[in-house]
Amino acid sequence: MFWMFRWINEDRHTMLRQTMVKTRRLGMRGPAYMFSARSASLSLTEERFLDAAVYGNIPVVRKMLEELPELNVNCVDYMGQNALQLAVANEHLEVTELLLNKDNLARIGDALLLAISKGYIRIVEAILSHRAFADTQRLVNSPGQAETQDDFFSYDEDGTRFSHDITPIILASHCHEYEVVHILLRKDARIERPHDHLCKCGTCSYHQKHDSFSHSRSRINAYKGLASPAYMSLSSKDPVMAALELSNELAVLANIEKEFKKDYKKLSVQCEDFVVGLLDLCRNTEEVEAILNGDVDENYEPRGSFIRLKLAIKYELKKFIAHPNCQQQLMSIWYENLSGLRQQTNVVKFLIVLGVAVGLPVLALLYWVAPTSKVSLHCFYL
Ligand SMILES: [Zn+2]
Repeated sequence: MFWMFRWINEDRHTMLRQTMVKTRRLGMRGPAYMFSARSASLSLTEERFLDAAVYGNIPVVRKMLEELPELNVNCVDYMGQNALQLAVANEHLEVTELLLNKDNLARIGDALLLAISKGYIRIVEAILSHRAFADTQRLVNSPGQAETQDDFFSYDEDGTRFSHDITPIILASHCHEYEVVHILLRKDARIERPHDHLCKCGTCSYHQKHDSFSHSRSRINAYKGLASPAYMSLSSKDPVMAALELSNELAVLANIEKEFKKDYKKLSVQCEDFVVGLLDLCRNTEEVEAILNGDVDENYEPRGSFIRLKLAIKYELKKFIAHPNCQQQLMSIWYENLSGLRQQTNVVKFLIVLGVAVGLPVLALLYWVAPTSKVSLHCFYL
């Protein structure tokens, strides 16, 4: 159901995007462009070829690719889409594989982004195994950076269908595609952390001056990818710590970049929800301790130091601190050496505390004289 909703949403997004691009194109080129139908230049063979790609007609596509060496595999339909894009859009894995065997195939990057956005994992794998991705730089560079070289990431002649800063791994993280994120991370694709908002380096100054809107959007898109549960859980050695720190960083940014306050705030809450979700999944004390304290088996932190909890208090992550599993753990530590006291009524607890308070000078003296005696140790725990 969720998949269907997303699919409908993405298709609507793509259509709106196309409308916007066409409006811009018409505005730039005048009404005469409307009458220059691109599909009119298609030969009958090419039309048959594109139809076969749309409908996933494997035998026809295979036969045409084998028997017609002069066939232009990059011919486009009336919407400016080539056979590869049409086959991927309609989830035809076999046709996609046949096309990927051809040389000089264009827009492979766009086909990859489309497959990621639709969650077609097998097609993503097929495209990533193409020789074009032997150069891992293809996965690291954003379409905006690659665009100057070729039409690898282009949707049509106007460039990429997504924002120019969207790399495959950022898109996979936005779509919460765990498997795709995992595949891309194995290929050393990473999301670059945006520079500081006040950064005055050459790149930031250039983008700020050239197109400040795109610059701000690219920062948001990168943070959206970094704050994705799929990316945090798979890319970081310590996802809990990474989520807590990112949550705080985003909360700070929400107060600095006020025009995007809502976006940053939402992402900050998303990071906190990720950690709270992990607490929800805990089944025993060891797992709760692992979240609050790090991996005790690996001796990252001394047991009971709860460094992450202290961090959460510092960052004011109330939802995380108030979580029942977290509170339960704190209570068990509070009563660790006085397990019987927890079951007593409030009156008894009050009397014990009062007794200790009144007898404190005597107990202190006793502890000073005989620090290892039974009474002293008991009082120390109190
Ligand atoms: Zn910079």
